[in-house]
Amino acid sequence: MSLFTAGQEIYQLIEELYPICRSITGDGFRQSLGIMGKHIPLDVHEVPSGTGVLDWTVPREWNIREAYIKNSAGEKIVDFKNSNLHILNYSVPVNGKFRLDELKEHLFSLPDYKDWIPYRTSYYKENWGFCVTHNLLESLADDEYEVVIDSSLENGHLTYAEYLVPGETDDEFLISCHCCHPSLFNDNLSGMGLAIQLAKTLGQRKPRYTYRFLFIPGTIGSITWLAHNRETVSKIKHGLVVACVGDRGKLHYKKSRHGDREIDRAALHVLSNAGQEYGIIDFFPYGYDERQYSSPGFDLAVGCLSRTPHGKFPQYHTSADNLDFISAECLGDSYEKYLQIIDVIEGNKVYRNTHPYGEPQLGRRGLYAAFGGRKDSNAWEMAMLWILNYSDGQHSLLDIAEQSAISFTLIRECAEVLVQHELLVEILM
Ligand code: ZN
Repeated sequence: MSLFTAGQEIYQLIEELYPICRSITGDGFRQSLGIMGKHIPLDVHEVPSGTGVLDWTVPREWNIREAYIKNSAGEKIVDFKNSNLHILNYSVPVNGKFRLDELKEHLFSLPDYKDWIPYRTSYYKENWGFCVTHNLLESLADDEYEVVIDSSLENGHLTYAEYLVPGETDDEFLISCHCCHPSLFNDNLSGMGLAIQLAKTLGQRKPRYTYRFLFIPGTIGSITWLAHNRETVSKIKHGLVVACVGDRGKLHYKKSRHGDREIDRAALHVLSNAGQEYGIIDFFPYGYDERQYSSPGFDLAVGCLSRTPHGKFPQYHTSADNLDFISAECLGDSYEKYLQIIDVIEGNKVYRNTHPYGEPQLGRRGLYAAFGGRKDSNAWEMAMLWILNYSDGQHSLLDIAEQSAISFTLIRECAEVLVQHELLVEILM
């Protein structure tokens, strides 16, 4: 499938998911998993409210049917039906009349971006509120307002889903994405769509690693999963958190906590060989769920690949994170880089040169001629020499690619040819 088509497919899926009011719990989250589950078979888990998870407790489940503010003339001046960002996510039910000064304590706006609606949540402190444009806030007359929030905050469940692509080994590659935001495209619908596309692609392969996809609410979801999967955690060798992958900014890779793990090196190699501008960010204990996977007790090698990172675009957590802010082309480009990083990790094996005393005679084996017709025949020759020299059982193909400054793709292809000619054997680590 072409990257353009992949980008288009991601775009179509997230357009379908866009209108749903998601939160960290509730039917919006379930409904979204239902749509995503049409593409890959998801294993859906329900964890009861009140369950202790590490140092946290699974919260009560929140659902919302309608919410509005009416002025004294009976006109709806704010309506959840027009945008689910209007409701402070996790608002408790309200039905009452409020003076303007009382109402204003529950209104949130962005004075710097007067036509945008902010996205706000109050998961762990009981509150209610509406997010509105600053223009609307400024236009409100001294009046009595009727406020209706038909929501429920009750014991129920936290929902999350997994999808496992079995590999040749039980060692795992974790792909994690939060799915708890309502109508916001880059954060986090783009990540949900890209993860589904990756899952579909890997589901058709027989990979070396086992791939575990997690579709979870942010923070509490990764904490819940970690609490319930203490044994699986030790199998995770590499991981990526998918978020903000649809905007037109350059790609940014946030390193894992140690910064020098195989996933970090694979991501750096792909980005530095892509011929595009990119940014590298050292680990810091904020951002998305990588901060839970990288807490010192778990200390997993999980990085995060985004375009413009978390919080670094003004549209972040506002109604301006809409369909215009992302593009199918950028989604396709991000998807390509994720696949390339996975390909590096998949192909990063260690070999032993079967003829280590002197250089094996390549001409006699037709190995010079084999690449003679190629435009990059010089690079192939150099790649062969690098691989043969450094395949001493101590250096992986990624080590060789880094040291030789030859792309991993070429090194890997070349190694496969040398294996066919019995000049290399794989060392099982
Ligand atoms: Zn967010």
